[in-house]
Amino acid sequence: MASKFIPGPILLMGPPGAGKGTQSKILMVQWSVPQISTGDLLRDMRKDPAKSASQLGVQMRQVMDAGHLIPNELVEAIVLDRLRQPDAYRGYILDGFPRTLPQAIWLDKELSIEKETLPIVAVNIQVSYTKLLRRITGRRSCPTCGRIYNIYFCLPENETVCDVDGTVLVQRPDDTEEVFAERMRTYEEMTAPVVEHYHGMARFAEVNGDLPVGDITRAITDAIVRLRS
Ligand SMILES: [Zn+2]
Repeated sequence: MASKFIPGPILLMGPPGAGKGTQSKILMVQWSVPQISTGDLLRDMRKDPAKSASQLGVQMRQVMDAGHLIPNELVEAIVLDRLRQPDAYRGYILDGFPRTLPQAIWLDKELSIEKETLPIVAVNIQVSYTKLLRRITGRRSCPTCGRIYNIYFCLPENETVCDVDGTVLVQRPDDTEEVFAERMRTYEEMTAPVVEHYHGMARFAEVNGDLPVGDITRAITDAIVRLRS
């Protein structure tokens, strides 16, 4: 199935900490498709010499040098340019775009113009609030070797120090319940209309993100195969 199946454009959604990054990487390998993240695209436009010299790269630099935010139209143009690259022909995994309803509507329209391009299917990784909260507020890291622990799920031998080098573990100042709750609110407010949009067109599925990684991958795969049939 992995070789014959054409996944097409996939939008993977999920709140911060739901494991979207992990799942994206697995799906990329499984279907040999790229992951397309607006964050990466914009970074490349600045840092990659060939891309920053391109017409879009130059436009972006002008906007940024003037101290302006990158306008939506420019983000859209950069995304569209990436979607048309040959490696994205059989599909891709979208990360961070479309983020708003107008962007979703715009992308649907652009894709419907292209010949032989499948419509987007969206999969939302749903994780319980408490579990996400623990994943984030329980996170501790070792300043020496960078190893990550979690006081709820992945405790070191000796509660407060790194198993490898004995360094005292630290917590990132952002990993608090207040910051998490705020991030979740923003995420839900912003993505609810996008979820509605794909749901309304029967191109949406939800998977249980509380399962082990492999089970989540299987659920996402099944959902996409079903939505494509
Ligand atoms: Zn360490």
